[in-house]
Amino acid sequence: MSAQPEYSFFAAVEKSFDKAAAFTQWDKGVLEQIKQCNSVYRMHFPVKIGDKIEVIKAYRVQHSHHKLPCKGGIRFATTVNLDEVMALAALMTYKCAIVNVPFGGAKGGITLDPKKYSAYDLEKITRRYTAELIKKNFIGPGTDVPAPDYGTGEREMSWILDTYMSMRPGEVDAMGCVTGKPVTQGGVRGRKEATGLGVFYGLREVCNMPEVTNRLNLTPGVEGKRVVVQGLGNVGYHSAIFFEQAGAKIVGLAEYEGAIYSEEGLNVQDVFNHRGASGSILNFPGAQNFETTSQALEMECDILIPAALENVINGENAPRIKAKIIGEAANGPLTPEADEEFIRRNVLVVPDMYLNAGGVTVSYFEWLKNLSHVRYGRLEKRFSENMNAHILGQIEELTDKQVSKKEKDFIMHGAEEVDLVRSGLEETMITATREILDVWHKNPEIPDMRTAAYVCAINKVGTSYAELGIFP
Ligand code: GLU
Repeated sequence: MSAQPEYSFFAAVEKSFDKAAAFTQWDKGVLEQIKQCNSVYRMHFPVKIGDKIEVIKAYRVQHSHHKLPCKGGIRFATTVNLDEVMALAALMTYKCAIVNVPFGGAKGGITLDPKKYSAYDLEKITRRYTAELIKKNFIGPGTDVPAPDYGTGEREMSWILDTYMSMRPGEVDAMGCVTGKPVTQGGVRGRKEATGLGVFYGLREVCNMPEVTNRLNLTPGVEGKRVVVQGLGNVGYHSAIFFEQAGAKIVGLAEYEGAIYSEEGLNVQDVFNHRGASGSILNFPGAQNFETTSQALEMECDILIPAALENVINGENAPRIKAKIIGEAANGPLTPEADEEFIRRNVLVVPDMYLNAGGVTVSYFEWLKNLSHVRYGRLEKRFSENMNAHILGQIEELTDKQVSKKEKDFIMHGAEEVDLVRSGLEETMITATREILDVWHKNPEIPDMRTAAYVCAINKVGTSYAELGIFP
């Protein structure tokens, strides 16, 4: 048997890029410039853990400077390596372009298992990492803005912010040096659930298009669809919750210790609480147990949402997957070989780099909030409420009828920060879905939605390079 070549995530991204580039008119040099990582920073630094010195390995890759700042999360995991960070940074460039977020792509990571460190040690490591980024000008509201990713969250972002602010005193826009912060420290309401909600908005839009669902032998709409979600982290949990709220049936859920299935549907919050209390997703009352997480991917369902890590669906298991729609909530869960299999079998793959763009979209709103130094809704909320109350009063007077209290509250409500953020996210996801499908439908030679998404991204990044006058 011949040895399998080692999987390279960056090579997989390049492969998808090249496939799409063939459907564009850009010069070879321009395509090469779009594809390469512009700056790669790999660092080693010492941190005292207990009574020992540990040498920590970390990265920050800026894939594209065609728009600044660069933007992308920071990942804490043992699997973090240069190839992965480069691939994820590239995906960020394409992701931002597709959803019209004016940033270049970046990604960072530290190779460690956060569960093996105390909060005190993690704080020391995160602060030192931030100091390294500051030294090399790899962080700042106008240069490069990190955010949470796998293994990090609000807590790490607030350490980054505090380190940056203390080393850059007096910098008026310093708050915008990182996003995904707690609301009390310059974060925006609605950021935490943004990626999961974006996944939901994107898939709902696809499901609402009869021309798409007819081809897949599905009825239009999200209601009643059987959904499996792999990964109950921030993204998977919120995706599952929003699908459940919209009337879908969550038949399968998985975490790294195993998976559960129930034809009748699982209550997501109950499963989440059960895992919190028992330490495992397994043995949930009324559900069937599966020993490995990957078995969830092969369950009978309409929509499969891999929301954990990359490379989970590949040439080996793709033939056994039964879903009709795969929504890539994680970054890079499918390999190019899996893509080929799904093109052959007419399974719709809704690609990561746009479907999970909800996080960076709301990060963009957070960054704008930080630069404008004012909370969304502060100026207009009362004005809208007063105006709505006045209109309602006029309607009641002219019709001689009373509007119910419930309706009144709903109509009068002036938009708060979270309402505006969600509305901006919904608009972004719907527009991006339509743009990608439009490119695809206009060119029937394009084999899948991922390629169509790449075509959109390449055209947008190419156009900004052209506008910058970089290519005469
Ligand atoms: N880590 C998220 C992603 O992969 C969010 C990035 C950001 O908000 O900058 O899209």
